[in-house]
Amino acid sequence: RAKAQGKGRYKVFDPAMYQEAIQLLEIENDLRRAIEREELIIYYQPIIDLHTGRVAGFEALLRWQHPVRGLMLPTEFIPIAEETGLINDIDIWVLQSACNQLRIWQDHPAISENLTLSVNLSARLFTQVNLITQIDKIINKTKINPSNLELEITESVIMENTNLVRAIIEEIKQRNIKLVMDDFGTGYSSLSYIHSLPLDSLKIDKSFITRMQFSQDNMGLVPTIISIAKSMGMTVIAEGVEAKEQVEKLRSLNCDFAQGYLFSQPLAQPLVIDFIASMPQW
Ligand code: C2E
Ligand code: MG
Ligand code: MG
Ligand code: MG
Repeated sequence: RAKAQGKGRYKVFDPAMYQEAIQLLEIENDLRRAIEREELIIYYQPIIDLHTGRVAGFEALLRWQHPVRGLMLPTEFIPIAEETGLINDIDIWVLQSACNQLRIWQDHPAISENLTLSVNLSARLFTQVNLITQIDKIINKTKINPSNLELEITESVIMENTNLVRAIIEEIKQRNIKLVMDDFGTGYSSLSYIHSLPLDSLKIDKSFITRMQFSQDNMGLVPTIISIAKSMGMTVIAEGVEAKEQVEKLRSLNCDFAQGYLFSQPLAQPLVIDFIASMPQW
């Protein structure tokens, strides 16, 4: 690296880069102990059924209550977790904890037994052969109905190891668990490739939804994505909905579900029941 900067210029020590490297190492070390120290927390963001205007379910979103740095967002530590492989244990912990929570909610009189729970799985975990064994264990332990569980995968998963990924997808579908393609539109997978996989839903990335807000007549690719996905038998979720006008447009396009700050930010678990009870019908 020093050489690339030109002849005779040797960069021996860069304090800023050094500081950054030390920080990353510290975060990595802390993250190794975060599960046992019970510092990981799950927030839940409601997903609204646009046909009924009611809460259909929640997406589990990870937070880390760091003892010194405070509440950390996934963008600040998921990349480190992925690089170090810690993500496997973390994602399984999220799946286990969120399924426990779903069980508790479903036993609550005010909550529909159809309430769904969506959990994000990193591409790395998705290519682990023992993922299915872990999922089976969690379902047996928590006794949740697998059809209420949705696993969110990204396009990078299906672009990776096609045979193993197809086998795992088949196993998941045999268990009646739902599969959602998250952040659709940000990767390189085509709708026709997606059609060759047994996916249940497609979540349109918020960048597409955000752009809809600013162009009154031009809704970009959103109408096309929705109509093709639906013609392929998938349900469609819009993420990052922040304005009422977006809800109206999405409804007119027959989009099934929506999620975003307009309805609610991700909520700490104790706030969820009250939210369901007090949410206006959208
Ligand atoms: P994602 O799965 O696409 O989740 C949606 C993200 O958008 C969440 O960010 C959510 O808080 C945010 N969001 C929701 N509504 C709005 C809105 O109206 N406007 C804007 N600007 N943002 C909105 P968050 O919680 O920071 O999570 C970021 C990403 O981290 C997630 O994106 C997901 O890829 C990853 N992630 C979160 N939890 C987990 C986990 O347990 N495991 C793995 N592997 N990844 C996770
Ligand atoms: Mg997601
Ligand atoms: Mg998403
Ligand atoms: Mg996203």
